[in-house]
Amino acid sequence: MSLIVQKFGGSSVADAESIKRVAKRIVETRKAGNDVVVAVSAMGDTTDELLDLANEVTPIPAPRELDMLLSAGERISMALLAMAIKSMGHEARSFTGSQAGMITDAQHGAARIVDVTPVRLREALDEGAIVIVAGFQGFNRDTRDITTLGRGGSDTTAVALAASLDADVCEIYTDVDGVFTSDPRVVKKAHKLDRITSEEMLELAASGAKVLHIRAVEYARRHGVTLHVRSSFNNNEGTIVYDPSRLPEGAAVEESVIAGVAIDLSEAKITVVGVPDKPGAAAKIFKIVAGTNANVDVIVQNVSAAATGRTDISFTVPKADGEKALTALAGAQDAIGFEALQYDDQIGKLSLVGNAMRSATGVSAKLFEALYQAGINIEMISTSEIRISVVTRADSVHAAARAVHTAFDLDGDDDAVVHGGTGR
Ligand code: ADP
Ligand code: ASP
Ligand code: MG
Repeated sequence: MSLIVQKFGGSSVADAESIKRVAKRIVETRKAGNDVVVAVSAMGDTTDELLDLANEVTPIPAPRELDMLLSAGERISMALLAMAIKSMGHEARSFTGSQAGMITDAQHGAARIVDVTPVRLREALDEGAIVIVAGFQGFNRDTRDITTLGRGGSDTTAVALAASLDADVCEIYTDVDGVFTSDPRVVKKAHKLDRITSEEMLELAASGAKVLHIRAVEYARRHGVTLHVRSSFNNNEGTIVYDPSRLPEGAAVEESVIAGVAIDLSEAKITVVGVPDKPGAAAKIFKIVAGTNANVDVIVQNVSAAATGRTDISFTVPKADGEKALTALAGAQDAIGFEALQYDDQIGKLSLVGNAMRSATGVSAKLFEALYQAGINIEMISTSEIRISVVTRADSVHAAARAVHTAFDLDGDDDAVVHGGTGR
């Protein structure tokens, strides 16, 4: 008997009808003779709506209470899903993250899973039940409080369950047919990939492709879990996310140069103007930013003006961290000796990702040419071994993605299908 972990995202359980449809699918897997453990997200845009509600009550909600609030979303969907399955004559039992033994650190809103103790899940499986677990949430032993894993975290719940229960497969069901060469909501000609290496998937997820939670990809890599990302709206094969180093010998597959193009509109740019151009200035700036826990991404330092001996340093941070980074820097203006701070939240980032970029030449030249032909100005550039990112104006990043997608011959023959969701 196989053990299959299935994760259903919010758009797959958006209303009662969808919940019944998903329940049917789970029962089919069970009827085929498998043990089934399900991780489920909150219905539709519930998490966003709960966040909106919290922000109506207070601009800065207390992190502990916010986690209490947000974890309620998954409680609703897990119970409804278990009910639906039971009404179809199959035993099903729902568990909160805490009941399922999802032990995390204490960081509200971005907790990391430190241990999984799925005792109750094992018991339920042994008794023949289908197990439904609330995604995105955990429990910290020291504070004895409920935590959440960060937006998109139900994917990570599923992977952690698959690893701890030694599942045969971890299927991530969503509203598109798999991992595409770009976000199909933005690039209509994006095509589905049959397979992608976990390293490329990690870079895409880190660069804004929200089809998989980055921590889920990391966790899967660390624990050797193979992921199958597929649609809950049809039975098509999706995308296998695999680790080439774990492939059986001789099974190596030819890699394409480019896996995909990711877009990220969640960052803002901070420019520290008129920084004295001498050793230690950058160290001071980034030490202060690091002290706020803001996650710095792209960094650019201009050539200093000979006349003044001063330079500008720009970097990007998540918009959510912008305010605190600015406040901390402003407080250190005299100590660092810069002239002014600028904040720009109208930026977009495009990233081109591909494993074979390591050895291929001319990739950046082709990228810059495509952007030039599309009339798009590049404001910042950063690279890693298998990724090139450029920062542009926010309102041109979608056009940039389409241009780059075409230039790298990634366009498919047909338009990509998006089955559900609001893209929120
Ligand atoms: P779920 O609610 O199932 O977790 P998400 O909304 O988190 O679904 O993720 C699926 C969405 O990710 C798709 O609807 C799509 O718009 C977006 N997306 C972004 N980049 C990609 C990509 N490269 N391939 C597929 N989907 C992508
Ligand atoms: N419901 C959570 C969110 O919207 C977790 C998830 O869907 O993965 O971020
Ligand atoms: Mg998701």
